[in-house]
Amino acid sequence: MNMEFLSTIDTKQDEIIKLADTIWENPEIAFKEYKSSGAIISFLKANGFTVEENIGGIPTAFIASYGSGHPEIGFIAEFDAIANLSQVAQVAVQQKDPSCVHGHACGHHLYGAGAVAAALAVQTYLKASGKAGTVKVLGCPGEEGGSGKAYMARTGVFRSLDAAMGGHPECMWAVRTRPSLACCNILYKFDGRASHAGAKPHLGRSALDAVELMNVAVNFLREHIPYDNRVHYAITDAGGTAPNVVQPHAEVMYMMRAKDNADLNSLCKRVHKCAEGAAIATETTFSSEFHAASSNLITISVLQKNLYKAMAAIPLPQPDEADIAFAREIAKTIVDRKEDDPLYPTELLPLPDVISPHFGSTDTGDVSWNCPTVQMHVGCWVPGTPNHGWQTVAQGKNGFARRAMLYTGKALALAAVQLFENPELLAEAKKEHLAKTDGVYEPAMPADVMPHL
Ligand SMILES: [Zn+2]
Ligand SMILES: [Zn+2]
Repeated sequence: MNMEFLSTIDTKQDEIIKLADTIWENPEIAFKEYKSSGAIISFLKANGFTVEENIGGIPTAFIASYGSGHPEIGFIAEFDAIANLSQVAQVAVQQKDPSCVHGHACGHHLYGAGAVAAALAVQTYLKASGKAGTVKVLGCPGEEGGSGKAYMARTGVFRSLDAAMGGHPECMWAVRTRPSLACCNILYKFDGRASHAGAKPHLGRSALDAVELMNVAVNFLREHIPYDNRVHYAITDAGGTAPNVVQPHAEVMYMMRAKDNADLNSLCKRVHKCAEGAAIATETTFSSEFHAASSNLITISVLQKNLYKAMAAIPLPQPDEADIAFAREIAKTIVDRKEDDPLYPTELLPLPDVISPHFGSTDTGDVSWNCPTVQMHVGCWVPGTPNHGWQTVAQGKNGFARRAMLYTGKALALAAVQLFENPELLAEAKKEHLAKTDGVYEPAMPADVMPHL
């Protein structure tokens, strides 16, 4: 195949890197990504894309489009940072950047700019080939705990896509083949009655007792739930710091995961019963507040094979001397590295014969229920780097990470063009998607839950 269209990414690489740097330098957390989404939107508008903003009631969510008609292919762009993980770039020691509070510890600045790079190359292909078709950048805020894509999905914006693709920064080069679990966050708030814990304990009703009893009940419940269910909790309000007061109010945040949305729903009902039981036993009352939810990820094998083919056709980036020197220093700070671990990922892992389970969750699940979706693991970090740690932020402007982002743009663009050129692959993807979803999207997020802006 003529891959000339990919040279657009070489021509515009300085601008693309600058875009990633701008997002890195303005780390904004879920639904507050005004500068980050603004930078991507301006860049795409200047390059001939039309942009629809404020998707699903989220000011920083957008869809940018170029072209018309089908096939319609979208590149997922994430751009939110992680709270309180500010860090200076290119140093191998934990050191807060005084100019910001948060930090790009999940590499979403590279995720966002990589999607833009891919879209520019596909735009060049569409112009040169004169083919019908649309390329989109799906501007998805609030990935970190916000389930931004779930709110966007309910407006139907992902429905018209023939395929969606994304490339998330990781420590390895591979096509993502593993599905992920559906998940949700529900806050339980208990109310009792304050009283002197020594003099008049019989008058008090402890909300903290209720929280503890609920947790005990859930911990017994664990033995009797499916093996792939997960329940986690954090006591977010223990009712104060005075032990001589019967705590009148306490809160616990629950996070539940299950293999699909239906299974998640039944798990949530059982956890809810633990709250009811705890409230009865402690003579307290409670309410629950649904915070966020993501659907399980539907994987599409034909898109995985297509993406693998594209990744294999483009040489992976190689570290230069400066990258190697920096990686040696970063490697010393990583706890679970072995002596012979490589300094950078430089091999494309093959598609596995057997898909292993994965017990995490992603709001890309809500994209995947609406259109055939595939993701790439982008090998830009020193292997062993914790995905949400200061070392990730420190590597965010590294030469190797930048070249990995540019490679990602090319591989995603080539994968998309292979689909434009071979529409039978899209038909096959659609068939597989229909077989796995029945064409029905019942989100894990209840319809009345609004984004926590
Ligand atoms: Zn993350
Ligand atoms: Zn992430």
